[in-house]
Amino acid sequence: MKTAPYWWENAAPFGDRRGDPPAALPAQCDVVIVGAGLTGCSAALTLARAGKDVVALDAQRPGWGASTRNGGMIGGGYRLSHQQMVEKYGAQTAHRLLVESHVDSLEFAVSRIRDEGIDCDYHRYGRFRGQWNRAEYDATARSLDDLRKLVAVNIDMVPPEAQRAEIGSDLYSGGMLLHDHGGLHPGKYMMGMALAAERAGARLFGHTAVRDVRPAGSGFAVATARGEIRAAAVLMATNGYTTPDFAKLKRRMIPVSSFLIATEELPEGMADDLMPGRRMCVETRNRHCYFRLSPDGRRLVLGGRAAMNRVSLARSARVLHGLLGEIFPQTRTLKLSHSWTGHTGFTFSFMPHIGRLDGIWHAMGYSGSGNAMAPYLGHKAALLMMGDPAGETAFTETTLETRFWYRKTPWFLPFAHQLYRIADRRDDRARAR
Ligand SMILES: Cc1cc2nc3c(=O)[nH]c(=O)nc-3n(C[C@H](O)[C@H](O)[C@H](O)COP(=O)(O)OP(=O)(O)OC[C@H]3O[C@@H](n4cnc5c(N)ncnc54)[C@H](O)[C@@H]3O)c2cc1C
Repeated sequence: MKTAPYWWENAAPFGDRRGDPPAALPAQCDVVIVGAGLTGCSAALTLARAGKDVVALDAQRPGWGASTRNGGMIGGGYRLSHQQMVEKYGAQTAHRLLVESHVDSLEFAVSRIRDEGIDCDYHRYGRFRGQWNRAEYDATARSLDDLRKLVAVNIDMVPPEAQRAEIGSDLYSGGMLLHDHGGLHPGKYMMGMALAAERAGARLFGHTAVRDVRPAGSGFAVATARGEIRAAAVLMATNGYTTPDFAKLKRRMIPVSSFLIATEELPEGMADDLMPGRRMCVETRNRHCYFRLSPDGRRLVLGGRAAMNRVSLARSARVLHGLLGEIFPQTRTLKLSHSWTGHTGFTFSFMPHIGRLDGIWHAMGYSGSGNAMAPYLGHKAALLMMGDPAGETAFTETTLETRFWYRKTPWFLPFAHQLYRIADRRDDRARAR
């Protein structure tokens, strides 16, 4: 079983095919971007198109982080209920967040794929969100009615009796179908975004860890593993991979691992039996399994919370294989070809944010999703850095909070893991009733 992401088989992060060591760093530029994932490369593209001299640096290789490790599902939405958002940010901001999350970010990402000619197997497959039990189904149907009053969403409920047209499993009590959500090949998507940034004139450098950014003259001095760069402005785009060198950000970002597996090629006919609707699938139980067919339709790719503490990829594969077998008993005898992991970047508010700390910009905190939101907020951050009013977004009004008990190490994740295990057992009991 391979432990690199399945997506890297035919779209590996840059450095692999570009030769190392990379070219010499420039002494100065207009903007330095720290982290060359979807956020960083989308920001680089917008800045370079506007004529800025942009340098994007990655400690590993451009695209090495979550952007080429993820499940490849693309859609909108956020984790909190609209009511929770209204209580936290007020009705007006909550409404703007809703529209940007559900509609604008997805439209933007899809237009970027189209306009830049990014060949990433993008397709509007639709997303099926399986409801864990009947009570959840009814509650979700009610909240969908409320959502429809606030924003034009293209979502329908799928009652249990119609579920088999979407997914070959009886594990869920019906579901929700988000018609506009899609799927793509994350490796090709990320590499396409990086190449588009380069075509626009941005310079991307791998193997260049940034250790410090400090004020210097009217701008900043960026200290890297390979020398210093002077820049007028700096954008941090490090999300779940933010390092303790940036203590204020680190205290606001919680790196939560998500794990994935890919199966060997499925026997003839199995893809049609298991995934008749070819949907991107997620579920409402605390395990948060997400699964799909690979873009060539030959394998199943499933992700989920195998653990929140450190575990081996052999162990996470066993856990995820067990969950896959719960959803589709026919897959219990299948072998796995790949098992890998990556860091999502959670915030205490579960919302992403664009802002500035000590004059240094940041765009991050996607809290488990990001294929739509990361390029969108990268673009918005770039516009804001240039003082362009089109950069206006409600995500400057969200909060990047910390807690006094969180410094540099997320010591509390193993405890959270235990709490989730209790929640998993509660879920199982709720399903059994
Ligand atoms: C396993 C997994 C599954 C997911 N599934 C989905 C999904 O199906 N759909 C979806 O929408 N989202 C999904 N996500 C979330 C999504 O992948 C992320 O939100 C998104 O890729 C974030 O992009 P980013 O560019 O902000 O960060 P990343 O892609 O993580 O890039 C951050 C980069 O910063 C670099 N870096 C960090 N510190 C430094 C430093 N000091 N100097 C230089 N470089 C540095 C890192 O090397 C890294 O390459 C998933 C995430 C994971 C981990």
